[in-house]
Parts: sequence; C-alpha cells; structure tokens
Amino acid sequence: MASVGSVTRQIAALEISAKQNGATKPTRPLKTAGQTSVSKLLTKFAAPNPFPDPKLKPLAKPKPGNTTQSSTKQSSQKPAATQKPLTEAELDIGKYDGGFEIENEKRGEAVQGEAARELALDSSVSRTRPTREWHLTDFDIGRPLGKGKFGRVYMVRTKVEPNYILALKCLYKSEIVQARVEKQIRREIEIQQNLRHPNVLRLYGYFHDEKRIFLMLEFAGKGELYKQLTKYGSFSERRSAVYIDQMADALSYLHSKHVIHRDIKPENLLLGINGELKIGDFGWSVHAPSNRRTTLCGTLDYLPPEMVEGREHNEKVDYWALGVLTYEFIVGSPPFEEMSGYNATYKRIAKVDLRIPPKLLQYDPEKRLALSEVRKHPWVVRYRTKTPTPEAVA
Ligand code: ATP
Ligand code: MG
Repeated sequence: MASVGSVTRQIAALEISAKQNGATKPTRPLKTAGQTSVSKLLTKFAAPNPFPDPKLKPLAKPKPGNTTQSSTKQSSQKPAATQKPLTEAELDIGKYDGGFEIENEKRGEAVQGEAARELALDSSVSRTRPTREWHLTDFDIGRPLGKGKFGRVYMVRTKVEPNYILALKCLYKSEIVQARVEKQIRREIEIQQNLRHPNVLRLYGYFHDEKRIFLMLEFAGKGELYKQLTKYGSFSERRSAVYIDQMADALSYLHSKHVIHRDIKPENLLLGINGELKIGDFGWSVHAPSNRRTTLCGTLDYLPPEMVEGREHNEKVDYWALGVLTYEFIVGSPPFEEMSGYNATYKRIAKVDLRIPPKLLQYDPEKRLALSEVRKHPWVVRYRTKTPTPEAVA
C-alpha cells in the first residue's frame, strides 16, 4: 500500500515536472465575429468521420444522418432543410498568429533511435483505422485555442472538402521523451482514435514531422467546462443532471469498450458547440481489467479509496469520479477537498468522510450505483428533455 508520504511525493514530483515543461494555463481567446457561422458548419458536419481512408472510398461531403456514431443519437444535427448551404468563404476561423512556426524555431529538438520510432505516429498507417495522409500544409490555421503541456492547440480548417473545422494539437516529441510518457501518449492516441460517442471528443487522425506530433481533434466549440465552473461557481441542478446523464452515457460506452478513463475531472471535460459535454483527455486511461498498481497523478480530489491506497482497481473508479463530479457541479468544490493539504484529503477519501447519503461515493467499488441506474435515477430523469443538451450558456 502506498504511504501518504509517497503519494504526496509522487504528486509533488509530477507538479514540478509539469512546471519545468513550462505548462501555462491559456487565457480564453476572445470570441470572433465568425463564430456563429462556424457553429452552423459544425452543426451541419458534426457527426461522421469526414476523412475516411481514401484507399477505401473517395472523399465526399457527409450527408446529414449518415453517421458512423455509436448507438447513442447524435443530437447536434439539424434537419438539412433548415440549413442554408455554407461555403468556406463564410467561415472565420480567426487570425493565425504564426505560433506553430514561431514556437518550432525555439522549442523541441529531433529525437533519435527507439524514441523516434515509438513517436512516429501516423494515422494513415494505423492498423485499425487508417486515414488519408495528413501534413501541416493541409490546413488553414486560425486562432489559438490554448496551450497544452507539450505544445499549442489551434483552430484549423482542412483545405480539402468538406473543409472541416478541427482543433489541431501539437506535441513536442523531445518533451514527451523528457517526461518519459512515450508509451502513455501512444496509448492515449490509440484509445481515443477508436472511440465514437457524442460525449467523447473524437480524434480524427494524427501525423508527425521531425520534432512534433499533431492530433486532429474534434473542435469543442464552447471550450473548457472548468472555465464555466470557475465562472459560475457551481451549476444549477438541471445543468448538473444533464451533464451527469451525458457522463454516465459516455462512461458506459467507454466501459463497454473495456476502457477505464481514470482521470475524470472538470479540467478534462470540454463542451461541444451545442453545450454538450465531451470527455477530452485520455492521458490516464487504460484497457480493462487493470490490475496494475496505481499510478497517481495530479489532484487527489477525484481519486477513489482503492487508488489513493494503491490497491488494484477496475472501471468502478470512474463511478466514484462521477460521484465527485456530481458533488462539485452542485456544491462548487469537490467533497474531499482539504485546503490543509494532500494528507488531509487522503484521510478524508479513505474514510469516505461525507455528510450526504452516497450512491456513487461508496468505499466498496461493488456497492457503487451502476451507470445504468444513474441514468434512471429520478434526479437525472427529472431534468432530461428531448434535446439532451443543457440550456445555452449565457
Ligand atoms: P493541460 O495539462 O494544461 O490540460 P494538455 O496537454 O492536456 O494540457 P489540452 O488540455 O488538451 O492540453 O489543451 C490545452 C487547451 O487547448 C485546453 O485547455 C483547451 O482550452 C484548448 N483545447 C484543447 N483541445 C481542444 C479542442 N478539441 N477544442 C477546443 N479547444 C481545445
Ligand atoms: Mg488537458
């Protein structure tokens, strides 16, 4: 069992390495005049993969309703009849500040040997889901969306039809090697590329050059959930219930694919153009069953007792995190948060020190409410409407 001290040390070490990597939280980019038309285009093209393997069939504009999504309905499509055809010229993806090139002059270096082979990530040669071949020159680059640990994220549009809007995320290979997360990044990419669910951020493809890896991600038009939570302090019960319903649906889907997320928290959730929640970070996800010993990361607040105690764990760790999320949405802070430090939080988690009747926050993973039961819970059902997205954010 991991001692409190070792847990604290691991977290401290992770925080230091994150700081050394120069991770800075992005400031929220200002809205541009073109966002309404971008929203329309995204609504129109929200569902299918617009980039099928060109070796299999030619690229064609996706038809509304022609979706490769999972059984869950894609809620973001409007009937074709109400859509005015949009052209590329109508769209404004914002002004590019030249960041990819400017940064590339100063940051990162080419990697050699085994690491170079390991990080030569290219979806056009993917065994499971090959795509067409992509290069940075295939995109018009727009406004910056944020800065990640390993590089910047920009709003881009493919030059090839259907001129799809994406978030292009850059990762510097040498920094991945320095942080010793080559395998983790590979796993994250492999897992995410095979997932199709309206509440899971799509990864359409990826490619690399000498120094960088680029991820072609679904554009989350309403940005980070965390920013909303910070802005409003907490969410209304309606909004919380809708999000929890979407989360339970997405997690059931992940678990059906034997993927455990293990890092559900507001910072890893993005919002789609219709305000729908998108799980957007698979950095700590694993294929179940995971009897591996716990790798601890970031904040303790969302970790279940079995993980803080370094015991074996299964997909029920995500049930626990969903309980913490529910609490934080409504109350505005996570249930076991302790300003006095990690040790105090650790003790509160292990004791399940809570003054509300818990359904998901049960010490024994087996006693946690099943996700199917979460979706049938009166509190969730009460707020479920025909359009399963929360009211538009003011
Ligand atoms: P961090 O550890 O700081 O979260 P990271 O390496 O996980 O960094 P991301 O969180 O994926 O990087 O991306 C950094 C920022 O870029 C996000 O906080 C978000 O604002 C923006 N961003 C990333 N992906 C998208 C996307 N698909 N759509 C819209 N914005 C995005
Ligand atoms: Mg992130």
